[in-house]
Amino acid sequence: MDIEGFRKAGYAAVDSICDYYAKLQRNELPVASQVQPGFLSKLIPDHAPEDGEPWDLISSDYQSKIMPGITHWQSPSFYAYYPGNATFEGGLADLHAAMISNPGFNWACSPSVTELEIITLDWAARMLGFSEDFLSTSPSGRGGGIILGSASEVAVTVAIGAREKALSLMAEKYPPPSAADGVEMKAATNGAAQDGTHAASLPQDDQSQLDPDAAVAAEDSTSHQAAVVGENATLEAASALAKWRGELTSRLVMYGTTQTHSIGAKAALILGLDFRALEVTAEDGFALRGATLEAALREDEAAGRVPFMLVCSLGTTSSAATDNLDEIVEVAKTRPTLFLHVDAAYAGVALALPEVREKLYPKALQLVDSFSTNYHKWGLVQFDCSPLLIRDRTVLSNALTLTPEFLRTRHGDAGSVLDMRNLQMPLGRRFRSLKLWFVLRSYGLKGFREHLRKDIKLADRFEEELRNDPKFELVAPPAFALRVFRIRKQAANGELSASQLDQLNQLFWEQIQTRSAELLLTQTVLPQVGFCIRFVTGSPWTQEAHVVQAHRVLSECADVTLKQWSE
Ligand code: PLP
Repeated sequence: MDIEGFRKAGYAAVDSICDYYAKLQRNELPVASQVQPGFLSKLIPDHAPEDGEPWDLISSDYQSKIMPGITHWQSPSFYAYYPGNATFEGGLADLHAAMISNPGFNWACSPSVTELEIITLDWAARMLGFSEDFLSTSPSGRGGGIILGSASEVAVTVAIGAREKALSLMAEKYPPPSAADGVEMKAATNGAAQDGTHAASLPQDDQSQLDPDAAVAAEDSTSHQAAVVGENATLEAASALAKWRGELTSRLVMYGTTQTHSIGAKAALILGLDFRALEVTAEDGFALRGATLEAALREDEAAGRVPFMLVCSLGTTSSAATDNLDEIVEVAKTRPTLFLHVDAAYAGVALALPEVREKLYPKALQLVDSFSTNYHKWGLVQFDCSPLLIRDRTVLSNALTLTPEFLRTRHGDAGSVLDMRNLQMPLGRRFRSLKLWFVLRSYGLKGFREHLRKDIKLADRFEEELRNDPKFELVAPPAFALRVFRIRKQAANGELSASQLDQLNQLFWEQIQTRSAELLLTQTVLPQVGFCIRFVTGSPWTQEAHVVQAHRVLSECADVTLKQWSE
């Protein structure tokens, strides 16, 4: 395709996207794709074409073959999972980013990519009410963050940093084997030292000018993130060090609750560490309490284990519960190895609303170590955009900096720029800040808040319909724009056991799925409650009439279910 071909195809693509959104607005498309598994292999050859094909054919196949297998997350009647917002501003940013495609790992790759990220992260932090400590301009010089692709990626990245920080602190008490033990080795304090090509080859003066992250890493002689063996070291030395590190690492425990998203357990799984899911109760609104945490920590500490990270939730997936951060911060304050990360993947953007913020532990939130929210959920930005705010970004750079010669730059060596690769796992990265910048500028803080308030109001409206319908009951405290409900046992006329009530609601769920062209919801299981249904508003296109209609459809589904149950 040449430039003029792209111009023509681009205009046509925008036209078809506009037509698509008009159809979505009129609710003319089935919300969930209605295709069967394997449908696409019947429509698409099993080999790429030998000769290039005309664009018109590719474009028309996209519409006729691919679109039927798309579930319309932007539909006004999409109430499932959590929303996955898209906006025209976000789409345009992604188009521009795609066409200047560039991996942004170092400042020098494209200075705007790094600098816009730093600025938009500060915008986002301020919008959500975070203190100076979380900004790139923090008094410590260590605050700021990075925009990653998902809450999962954030969790693993933070866990790597938290692990290294904990090991560093543990090493003060249990020092590594040293030359005195007949082991000649050198602990890698940052990539520069580790690969022997960067800091090792820099003149002394240059080393003193390493960027703050690298400098801190270099100072930290007890950092043992990936200890490497010195040139003359023996295999024995390497194995002694690995054993020492393995022993310390095996003591580490990550915590969350039974309601924490599986990103916590998965991060631990990936790193080969233990994850302990603490119990929460319906009485506490499915939120972690300080006493539960304290008891678990004491138990583990008595057994010689070392708590190194707690994934707190601000808005769990099942019920949008928020852990009691006031109590958690209090418990954590005497435990230097325990890193507090707040996963606010869905609800974090709601901190943009002062009326929400003031109810969500505003003081304690300033004391956690890191926080992330997905703008690609309820934050009007296309997937993927998951900013991580961190009080001390050297926790990441100490753990993740490796600088072979080919990645060195003049400004990087001088420490006058932040090279984002040092705060993340991959090297290359997407230009995600552009969409956040476009969206925040176009909506303004006011428009952003209006979007959130509208959805909360719609959820309240849906709740009103539920409360006026004797067939239903809410089973979790209403939170943000999520409502969790089920058919009440009284609606089934007769005494139902807990498991019968579950069965009844599973039948209800099956019935709801038969209406997936009209609306889409998801199910969950809550402790002490059992099987229940989630309804969350979040699409910028949803209006009051849609949620009223949603209740009508759900009420019909409940009628059919109750009839089946009584037969
Ligand atoms: N955390 C919470 C509370 C979520 O609800 C979700 C997804 O819905 C995630 C984490 C996972 O997010 P991601 O897909 O960005 O990893």
